[in-house]
Parts: sequence; C-alpha cells; structure tokens
Amino acid sequence: STRPYATQTEESVGVEDKRLRMRAWQLNGYDGVEGLTLEMARIPPILRPSDVLVKVHAASVNPIDTVLIGGYGRPVLNIMRALGQLEQGIVDPNQTELPITGGRDFVGEVVGVGQRVRGISVGQRVLGVVSPQGQGSHAEFVVTPASNVCSLPDNVNTEEAASLPYTALTGWSAVVVSGMIPPGKALGKRVLILGAAGGVGSFLCQLLSVWGAQVTGVCSNDAMDLVASLGVEPLDYTDPSTKPMLTADKGYDLIINAAGKDDLEYLSALKPWMGASYVTLSPPLLTNIDQRGLAAGLIKSAREIACQNLTSLSEGRVYKWAFFMPNTRALSHITHLLATHMIRGVVDGVFPFSQTPQAYKHVLNGHARGKTVITLT
Ligand code: NDP
Repeated sequence: STRPYATQTEESVGVEDKRLRMRAWQLNGYDGVEGLTLEMARIPPILRPSDVLVKVHAASVNPIDTVLIGGYGRPVLNIMRALGQLEQGIVDPNQTELPITGGRDFVGEVVGVGQRVRGISVGQRVLGVVSPQGQGSHAEFVVTPASNVCSLPDNVNTEEAASLPYTALTGWSAVVVSGMIPPGKALGKRVLILGAAGGVGSFLCQLLSVWGAQVTGVCSNDAMDLVASLGVEPLDYTDPSTKPMLTADKGYDLIINAAGKDDLEYLSALKPWMGASYVTLSPPLLTNIDQRGLAAGLIKSAREIACQNLTSLSEGRVYKWAFFMPNTRALSHITHLLATHMIRGVVDGVFPFSQTPQAYKHVLNGHARGKTVITLT
C-alpha cells in the first residue's frame, strides 16, 4: 500500500505486528476533539531520500491542532498533500487524507534516515517540525524532511524544547519574513507584541529582546508577571487606558498580533510614514477558502488585504499577514539560543501521551501561558 498509515484497532493487531506499529492519536473524520482515538497505526515509512524517521519523546499542542481536527484548512491542505504525492509518483484518485494525526512539532531521537540525508544520523537527539500537510507528531513516530530537524544538545530540557519549534518558526516568519527585521538586527526598534503570554508571544518577547529591540508585551492582568519575566515591558489589555495610550504614543516600528484575533485599532500605534508594519497571525485566507472554495476564497482574501492596505497605506502604515514556515537556519538559531540559555521555552502544562485529548481541551480553553506539551517518555 502507498498509504503512509493503515489503521486497525489496538485489539485487532497481533503481537508480531505490534513491532512494526505504533500508537497514534488519530481522527477518522473531522469530529473535533471527541473524535480523537488512540489507534495502532503503521510506523510511517521513509518515502523520500531526504526524510528522517523520529521516535517522538514530546510534542506541543497548538491552536491549529484543535481546529484542523474540525476540518479547518482542509481544501488547501488536501491540495498540498496531492502535490506531495505527485512528487513521489503516487497517483491514486481514491486516496484519502484520513485518518489524520495532529501535532506540528516534536523532540525525539532519530531512528532512521533516507539515503540522501547528510548531517543528521541515527541516535541523534533532535527537535523539529512537520510540514503543514504532513502526518503529525501526536504519535510514537513521525517522518519529516531532514531540513525540518536540528540536533538538540543534551543540556536542554525535553518539554521546554518541545514547546518551541512550531511557535518559534511561526514567530520568526512574522518578524523576519513579514516584519522584515533581519535576524539579530532589531537594535533600537520598538516592537509591540499582542498576545505576549501565549506560545508565539512568549517566544517573540524573548527573541526580540535578545536581538536588541525595546519590546512591549500586551497580555491579560494575571499574566503581567510572566511577561515581565521575559525581559519586556508588560501592559494589561483589560485596563481600558492601555489601547488609547498606545495609539496616542504612535511609537512602534512593528506590531505582531499573536492574540488569536485581529484588532485593527492597534494599527494607529505604529509610527506613521516610517515603513512600520502591523503583522497578524490570524489572516482570513484559509477560512475564506474553506467557505468559498479555492478561487473565490483567494480573490476575497486578496481584496481584503488590498482594501485594508488602501486605508493603512494612506496613513503611512503597512498591514501584513504571516504564516508558519519551516526554516532550517531559523531552527538552528533558535536551538542555539535555547541551549545557551538566552531564551527559554515557556511551558503552560504537561500531559502524558495517554491524556492527549485532555491536552487539546486545555488548549481549547484558551488563556495560554506559554505552550501545552504532551510527553511520551
Ligand atoms: P496561544 O493560544 O498560545 O496564545 C494566545 C494568547 O493571546 C493567550 O495568552 C491569550 O491569553 C492572549 N490574548 C487573548 N486575547 C488577547 C488580547 N485581546 N490582547 C492580548 N492578548 C490576548 O496561541 P499561539 O501563541 O500558539 O498562537 C497565536 C495565534 O497565532 C493563534 O491565533 C494561532 O492560531 C495563530 N497562529 C497562526 C499561524 C499561521 O501560520 N498564521 C501559525 C501558528 C499560530 P488571555 O486570553 O488570557 O489574554
């Protein structure tokens, strides 16, 4: 079979088979967290010579996992899956993406490498991410391109490291790609982080401080101590004077919105006519495509970002979207900062693998203070 995962219930798998199989949290439909079941699945094979197979020790649970299992982004992800299969020469019209496994990142041990992998070897401890369309890490094993993993020194705590890869690469993309701040070059920049206590926000507060920026982190009242401990100035969004103060200040070079929903009033906190940007991590692109189909969804999204920029550009400010992107160099930079204690992984809660649905529910409850992690060791 060309299907990477063929599932059976745990009971129906014989002792012999179990050696080639793994436990994985899977969904056979888009039923949300109630549909998550622990299945015996085939250990994913290395299909491409550039892939590695990793035994997962810990993985984070992200808001994206909680919505993907309800069908969010399905049309776009299925196009990406079909393109990936074409690349491998697999053309099967009956192929389905189900069952799916969540989990966008991991810490683990490399147990297999493709023929063309260089620099990563069996036995190495690594951290890494899976591609958005790939089978996830909420399983005992995961396959991903070697360019998506980085060697992890022994001195770094497993749960802390597992809290970072997906959120950190998302934050990196927001700052470096969308925000156009070159790595390490934020000296003198004033940056506002909305959602500073969450997974992406808590990472960005630290990264931008290390890079020399003057950072303000907007969070809820009860997260002020946490955000201050990240080395930035905390501001309480539940205080009605906070937003008017920021918009009157008009002092920021960059705003990253990692709070879970857009708030365009903050655009006025940017310096006008200085090329300053407001970057949101909640773009409507996938929702538009889910609701209207690919072509109409793309057109609606293009129109929305153009209209928003017509207004903001007329006031000398830029409005941008940001997306998670795998990035080998960024992963290595982040791992170095972690290993040298320049930054830390902020862990909100740790759940054993057997309680993965509870971990999803914890994330669904919102009010994250760092990242939720599941452990398999
Ligand atoms: P989290 O859930 O970890 O963090 C969100 C944080 O925002 C929480 O601490 C929450 O706490 C806080 N928050 C809520 N409302 C406000 C507000 N009005 N002002 C300031 N803070 C607020 O999410 P992540 O950090 O993992 O991700 C951030 C966002 O980015 C999510 O919406 C996620 O879906 C998105 N994302 C997008 C990606 C992309 O490719 N575009 C990739 C990854 C993430 P509290 O409610 O207590 O204030």
